Amino acid sequence: MNLIPEIIQRYRRSKKKAEGIRIRHKTLKSILLVVRDQSRPLLTTDKKPLPPNFPLDPCSTCGVPHYVKTYHLPLDSEGTVIVSRTIYERLQRLADHAGFDFANVVNNPPDQILNIPIVEQKVIAFSPERVRRDHIHAD
Ligand SMILES: [Zn+2]
Repeated sequence: MNLIPEIIQRYRRSKKKAEGIRIRHKTLKSILLVVRDQSRPLLTTDKKPLPPNFPLDPCSTCGVPHYVKTYHLPLDSEGTVIVSRTIYERLQRLADHAGFDFANVVNNPPDQILNIPIVEQKVIAFSPERVRRDHIHAD
């Protein structure tokens, strides 16, 4: 019996979801909006901003290297996207709020869908605190 889907379901039910903030862009729709926060440069290990010629790999999402903190916001056909409160507050600090003019709280936001492969791994052992013995069923 494959327990992994059941374990994932149980984990999702137990985890209290953080609220999300739905924001709407004033003019753009149906596009991946890339917002660069120039006030938050990426830092070297000695806490200095990366020099502009520092060799960085291109971003796996949009294909260009980022020297400052960058948000990738997939706007839907209404121009909206749901972000965390932290990202919402950071966008508020940018000029013209990065072009967003509307927000409401979403209490139960949908899970983010990440474009990464999912691999099922065989469960080797359970932590006894997390899964009671009577929840483990043998084949
Ligand atoms: Zn990017």
